[in-house]
Amino acid sequence: MYDTIIVGGGSAGSVMAHRLSARSANKVLLCEAGQDTPPGNEPPEIRDSYSGLAYFDPRFHWTELKVTTQIVSHNNPDESRPPLRKYEQARVLGGGSSINGQMANRGAPTDYEEWEARGAVGWNWKDVLPYFKKVERDLDFDGPFHGKDGRIPVRRIPHQHWTAHSQEAGIPTRPPGRGGAGNDRPARRPSWPRPPAPRGCRRRDRGGPWS
Ligand SMILES: Cc1cc2nc3c(=O)[nH]c(=O)nc-3n(C[C@H](O)[C@H](O)[C@H](O)COP(=O)(O)OP(=O)(O)OC[C@H]3O[C@@H](n4cnc5c(N)ncnc54)[C@H](O)[C@@H]3O)c2cc1C
Repeated sequence: MYDTIIVGGGSAGSVMAHRLSARSANKVLLCEAGQDTPPGNEPPEIRDSYSGLAYFDPRFHWTELKVTTQIVSHNNPDESRPPLRKYEQARVLGGGSSINGQMANRGAPTDYEEWEARGAVGWNWKDVLPYFKKVERDLDFDGPFHGKDGRIPVRRIPHQHWTAHSQEAGIPTRPPGRGGAGNDRPARRPSWPRPPAPRGCRRRDRGGPWS
């Protein structure tokens, strides 16, 4: 008999399971359709900090998912439809966080202000910032926009480790402490979510799905 049953052990489900089971009286069942990644016995592709290994491994995907990315302006079944393309979604404990690029991106402050203006009360930048800070342990910077005590370590790839190309191109880092998307990232926005993570991006280290 369980107090809570969580279907899907992805990013959200794993955190929910962790939080709920922190109280030992709670009985929590976490059901995940994909492969388990028990601590100490994680598949090497999942453990590897190069996200491309897990990302390109069909064992960790819902391989049949397809999606249309072009707008369809009608519901006529007889009209031709735009082509379907693969829809990458993880099927493994940890979900997307086990296969993704490990980039720690926040939205821009103006995104949240717009959400609240459209009716999402409590989602303005000032109100969401404490939660961004709470989740992260910033290994590089301190200050009003950076968390130091969260469970997810966040670091930047040091400038000397950037590719020769980006250094020669003189891509500058942004000053720390802006709080929005792209803290301390190269000014040029990386393509996302394709691995490998562009050099110079903030990365979060992959933790266990229950961490
Ligand atoms: C390729 C890729 C790269 C990404 N890169 C980044 C990045 O660099 N930085 C970043 O912040 N975000 C990134 N994201 C986005 C991020 O990973 C997702 O937003 C996040 O994982 C979504 O969490 P979720 O809990 O909503 O869903 P998911 O993490 O997808 O979890 C859903 C889980 O439910 C399971 N499930 C589904 N149906 C069932 C069922 N019927 N029974 C049991 N289990 C089921 C799935 O197998 C899956 O494990 C990326 C995503 C992808 C796909």
